[in-house]
Amino acid sequence: MFINGEWVESHSGHKREILNPYNQEVIAVVTEGDHEDARRAIAAARQAFDQGEWRNTPANIRGRLVLKVAELIERDKEELAELETLDTGKTIIESRADMDDIAEVFRYFAGLADKDGGETINSPIPNSKSRIVREPVGVCGQITPWNYPLLQAAWKLAPALAAGNTLIIKPSEITPLTTIKVTELMEEAGIPKGVVNLILGPGATAGYELAINKNVDLISFTGGLETGRKIMKAASENFKKIALELGGKNPNIIFADCDFETAVDQALNAVYFHGGQVCSAGARLIVEDTIHDQFVEALVERVKRIQLGNGFDDTTQSGPLISKEHREQVEYYVALGKQEGAKLVAGGERPKDPTLQNGFFFLPTIFTECDTNMRIVQEEVFGPVLTVECFSSEEEAIMLANDSIYGLAGAVWTNNITKAERVVSELRMGTVWINDYHPYFAQAPWGGYKQSGIGRELGKLGLEEYTEVKHVFQNLQPKPVDWFK
Ligand code: NAD
Repeated sequence: MFINGEWVESHSGHKREILNPYNQEVIAVVTEGDHEDARRAIAAARQAFDQGEWRNTPANIRGRLVLKVAELIERDKEELAELETLDTGKTIIESRADMDDIAEVFRYFAGLADKDGGETINSPIPNSKSRIVREPVGVCGQITPWNYPLLQAAWKLAPALAAGNTLIIKPSEITPLTTIKVTELMEEAGIPKGVVNLILGPGATAGYELAINKNVDLISFTGGLETGRKIMKAASENFKKIALELGGKNPNIIFADCDFETAVDQALNAVYFHGGQVCSAGARLIVEDTIHDQFVEALVERVKRIQLGNGFDDTTQSGPLISKEHREQVEYYVALGKQEGAKLVAGGERPKDPTLQNGFFFLPTIFTECDTNMRIVQEEVFGPVLTVECFSSEEEAIMLANDSIYGLAGAVWTNNITKAERVVSELRMGTVWINDYHPYFAQAPWGGYKQSGIGRELGKLGLEEYTEVKHVFQNLQPKPVDWFK
């Protein structure tokens, strides 16, 4: 762990083995912290913030240091990508793409650091000046999940630093390796002591302390709904600011007048990318009835060809699921789908290939004849499981797509652009793609409507999350008001 500029072991001396989900080999042993270690890290971040060196560093200089981190990530990109593939099982091609995105996120927020010089207000009071300034929030706790370990960390680290905050980051206990490495890079870049602190350990102890501790001013969390609920409750202890990026059960709407081949191809990508362990996965396919059978047939044919395997092999298109527990959770949902009456038309089991038996693999799965009231349709499986629903009118497509507690992302496929725009304006979600699936980038905000979260990451809004707004009013001719004569 990295606390107050020092690399340290946990106070308890506990350790954790980190497993490669492809073969269950131990790839690292890391120190395992708890709430006590979190308190030490919070104290260091508090002291660094209050002492003021970082927040008083001119914003352009802070930007330069954040840019330096981007350059170091670029330099060590291959090592970082290999670590991410070892730790998560995702393909090395995906990990390399993640690292490109991560460097870009640091570059973007480095560039934004000195762009907002505040705002002057037209004061209605004569002989006065009024302005708005943005200031850092203070000490930020940041908690990240295992599916995109470093990408999710970058979305939090880069804006927090650019805005002049101090922070404590806690990666998922099962995928800490790339966050450890990037903390080394932030140290190498010259971010001052105490500004960045890294703690390792389970959510219930090390993570929870960040949410409940009164010396933390903002908690930013990416992860599941139930954890988000606990964090929100804990954050109410001192009404700290909260930013929550939670789950999704995202609709992918296919109209009959779409480009059929492209829509089939991208529907696969939408749901099976990274084994479906993506918050924005297009896990709910909603297809117009006139092409339903043909579309499903094409999907089933293509799904059989998806190559599972070692993320380091060139032929692998999808790796294993993250853990034994997570695969069991996916299996629970597949059994549930069958019980609820959905029709299993592909996958639904572990692969039989003998070379995959040591990894947490699960076959890409499709359920048809799904009904919007089924739990398999409503709940986030976070695995390679697609449900297919059928619609016969635009209104029905919109109704099915919006029938969810979530509102993270979704897509519409049609060559009728006015219809696309009509549908998009009715969809209740933070990101909507027209004739595409998955694009996201540093310049555009990311976040959810409804129970998919609170606040936005990335884009200008992603920086604003890490700022407080101060109104400064100056009287140019002070004189008594004589109210209490
Ligand atoms: P999780 O909620 O189990 O864990 C996420 C993080 O929270 C981990 O670091 C964990 O240690 C920590 N944590 C667990 N319990 C805690 C507690 N009581 N107090 C404080 N911290 C605690 O989620 P996960 O299984 O790691 O990730 C999968 C989930 O993340 C999915 O629901 C997915 O949709 C969501 N996700 C959302 C986005 C998004 O942008 N909206 C992105 C990626 C993942």
